[in-house]
Amino acid sequence: SSFSGYIGRFAPSPSGPLHAGSLVAAMASYLDARAHGGRWLVRIEDIDEARTVAGAADAILHALQAFGMQHDGDILVQSRRKDVYQRAFDRLTDYTYPCGCTRREIADSRLGTAADGAAIYPGTCRHGLAPGRVARALRLRVPDVGQPDETIIFDDRWLGPQVQHLATEVGDFVLKRADGFWAYQLAVVVDDAEQGITHIVRGTDLLESTGRQIYLQHLLDYPTPSYMHVPVVRNAQGEKLSKQTGARALDLTRPLDELLLAARFLQLDIAPASSLAHFWEQATTIWRMNFLVPHR
Ligand code: GLU
Repeated sequence: SSFSGYIGRFAPSPSGPLHAGSLVAAMASYLDARAHGGRWLVRIEDIDEARTVAGAADAILHALQAFGMQHDGDILVQSRRKDVYQRAFDRLTDYTYPCGCTRREIADSRLGTAADGAAIYPGTCRHGLAPGRVARALRLRVPDVGQPDETIIFDDRWLGPQVQHLATEVGDFVLKRADGFWAYQLAVVVDDAEQGITHIVRGTDLLESTGRQIYLQHLLDYPTPSYMHVPVVRNAQGEKLSKQTGARALDLTRPLDELLLAARFLQLDIAPASSLAHFWEQATTIWRMNFLVPHR
């Protein structure tokens, strides 16, 4: 079959096994790649080693297999790529500075919190560490209000036009964390570029990160992929599903039932299938109709 030039990816953090919420994100990215005749890559985002759970990456890969989701190419593992992130960081030194602020100090400045829950950084260390302060994290300076790129605009394929203001909604953000690990924002941008990702399909829980990622792409001269943020599964308390919020384990002995639930969550009008192959064929056709065929 001919390769369309589309490259998508699923990029789970191995903090637990695949659950109903991450299956939805995996399915959406997989269907979009299939519907475009593209490639679908898998990347293990274990850069936050404090959150990595032993065995979780293997469990996720095993589950994808049980659901009949075949990835293309090699699996990229972020924890093995620290030198690559260092080299990207080294290209950004005109825009970065050491920060000595603790989480508490930033919260106390009461600029509010970004939608992802992180406190907006007030810029305390922007012009140098105060005497006696020790550098903890390394931050990236975002453009001031009114400067180019302060307002990031992109067209989301699920949500429509999006506008994000880096200075007022995020502030200068961390590229290297106080615990010494590279930040997700840097690693994901470097890897998406290196893997040639053309289309990102992921949950709306990551929507607030997209402005930062597009800004980093501009600074690093990377192309900006197309974005689609799909709804995330929440529990009765409205929390995003995770192991911590009580997500039930997927039943890998009944993959068709689990796939049907995930597909219906994504509003695919799909009938029960007789086999995995039949399921994916149906779901791909419906996805193509819903999201690729222009509506008249
Ligand atoms: N590793 C991230 C997560 O599991 C996803 C990153 C992404 O899709 O950009 O939440």
